Amino acid sequence: MVFGIAILLAIGMAVFVVTPLLVPEIPGEGALPIDVTPLTDLKRRRLVVYENLQDLEFEYKSGKISPEDYQALRENHLAEAAQLMLASQEQEEVTENDVLIERQVAARRAQRRLQQPNPYVCPGCGFDNPLPVKFCGNCGVQLPQQNPKK
Ligand SMILES: [Zn+2]
Repeated sequence: MVFGIAILLAIGMAVFVVTPLLVPEIPGEGALPIDVTPLTDLKRRRLVVYENLQDLEFEYKSGKISPEDYQALRENHLAEAAQLMLASQEQEEVTENDVLIERQVAARRAQRRLQQPNPYVCPGCGFDNPLPVKFCGNCGVQLPQQNPKK
C-alpha cells in the first residue's frame, strides 16, 4: 500500500515536472471561444494561476530561482488569484441577479394570467371549465365563442 502510494507520488512528480514544458502559453482574451461564459473563463484563469503557483513552488524548492524572485513572483500570482476570485464573485452575483429577475418576471406573468378572467367559465352554471371547450363540462350549455374570426 505504501509502496503503491510512493509510485503514485513518483508518477505525479514526473507529470508535474513535464507538464509545464508541454502546456503552451496562456492564450489572450481574443483567443477565447465564443461560448465560454465569463464565469467559466474566470474559473479557468484561476486554475492557471494556481498551476503557476505550484510550478513556482516547485522551481523554488528545486533551487531554480532565488528566494527574492520566488517571493516577488509568488506575490504576483497571489494578487492575480485574489483579483480573479473577486471578479468571479461579482460575476456570480450578476448571475444570481439574473435568476431573481427571471423569477420576478415569471411571477408577474403568472399574476397577469390570474387577473385575466377565465374565458371558459360557464355563463349558465358558473362552472370553471379547466380546458378550452365549446360546451360546459358541468351543464352542457354552449359557451360563447372565444375566437370570433369567422
Ligand atoms: Zn355550465
